[in-house]
Amino acid sequence: MSKEIPYKIYLDENEMPKQWYNLRADMKNKPAPLLNPATLQPITIEELSEVFCEELAKQELDETTPYIDIPEKILNFYKMYRPAPLTRAYCLEEKLQTPAKIYYKFEGNNTSGSHKLNSAIAQAYYAKDQGLKGVTTETGAGQWGTALSMACSYLDLDCKVYMVKCSYEQKPFRREVMRTYGASITPSPSMETEVGRKILEKHPGTSGSLGCAISEAVETAGKLDGYRYVLGSVLNQVLLHQTIIGLEAKKAMDKYGIKPDIIIGCAGGGSNLGGLIAPFMGEKLRGEADYQFIAVEPASCPSLTRGVYAYDYCDTGAVCPLQKMYTLGSNFIPSANHSGGLRYHGMSSILSQLYHDGLMEARSVEQTSVFAAAELFARVEGTLPAPESSHAIKVAIDEALKCKETGEEKTILFGLTGTGYFDMYAYEKFHNGQMTDYVPTDEELKASFETLPKIPR
Ligand SMILES: *Cc1c(COP(=O)(O)O)cnc(C)c1O
Repeated sequence: MSKEIPYKIYLDENEMPKQWYNLRADMKNKPAPLLNPATLQPITIEELSEVFCEELAKQELDETTPYIDIPEKILNFYKMYRPAPLTRAYCLEEKLQTPAKIYYKFEGNNTSGSHKLNSAIAQAYYAKDQGLKGVTTETGAGQWGTALSMACSYLDLDCKVYMVKCSYEQKPFRREVMRTYGASITPSPSMETEVGRKILEKHPGTSGSLGCAISEAVETAGKLDGYRYVLGSVLNQVLLHQTIIGLEAKKAMDKYGIKPDIIIGCAGGGSNLGGLIAPFMGEKLRGEADYQFIAVEPASCPSLTRGVYAYDYCDTGAVCPLQKMYTLGSNFIPSANHSGGLRYHGMSSILSQLYHDGLMEARSVEQTSVFAAAELFARVEGTLPAPESSHAIKVAIDEALKCKETGEEKTILFGLTGTGYFDMYAYEKFHNGQMTDYVPTDEELKASFETLPKIPR
């Protein structure tokens, strides 16, 4: 095995990207226009500015500017935990006895433990810049809430997080990390909001849901002066901020003349995958190079592989604009035994369009195979991966094993989005043999599709 490529490729601080890349500028088929949930007409920048900060509203609708400057304050924050290393998985290659060359971009090197901080700091920055007092959000597993808490404390912005009650109880350490950063955490459903009180009246013992936490966060932002509700994935602006992942990865690979054949990422709402593939997809769209892109999703929440391409709500509260995307319906909830994350019902409209146009593939994988891949990876590469990230690991391993059969020396790049320290409950179920796989039936999905909003067009 040739080892002239180091285990870890770092960029120098002065080599870090200073602009985000707006992939939409190079897309021939742009994502369908966002719709105003009240009028169902394409949303205007004025209307969108009531939901998001002005600068973020602009980014959300900008389909033409290819590069957008990263403000200096955000760059300085990035420097605390970036550039993220690009690692050659020599040990995994050896374990698999594959001729494939495997690389991964690790985004878990910060306290939030995931890539979500890349957009949290940007969203908090623009909120502060506009003179807002604070932001509200929901968190399920806790990564997004933690990332936003960190960003808000850096900028002295108030942060109110509604945390799904079962996570609040199962992940007390996540909760305390957020409180360390000064955020206030409320288990959802709560008595603080009208939505919460209604739900508690109807279902007194409920352990909560992401949809309900979203509704509470939205209601609170609406009631308080100087507050906005913010979202950690799916939106165009979030994908834009996450391009820092792909830009760094590409620059590091270019430094050593490495060209990936296959680029793989896990897909929840699509932000890390969109960010990782963006500069490579840009080259493909401009006809400069070709790559194979693979989105990996859980078989229990298969929005790309089994969803429909239609307009749907991004949030259960229906404050965010409607997007045309691959979706399972905004009321879809993965079965209770699903513990691998990536539970979002829809997919970024940018990725949905690329998938629809045949520029990207998608695969769904079952959670026991994901945890088996996670364990194998942890044992040889040292890092304990987040269950979400392990979806990408699973398919990277599958592709490397294919190379072993064919003898092809393909270069594989995948996104290792985070660490799994707070997911030991799920790992425990796996180790105890209590984890099962669940794949929704066509009838279940059909019932969910029937709840999609009827858009007259
Ligand atoms: C949130 C999260 C994801 C999925 O979100 P995307 O928006 O699809 O990237 C993946 N990995 C980790 C570690 C996460 O926290």
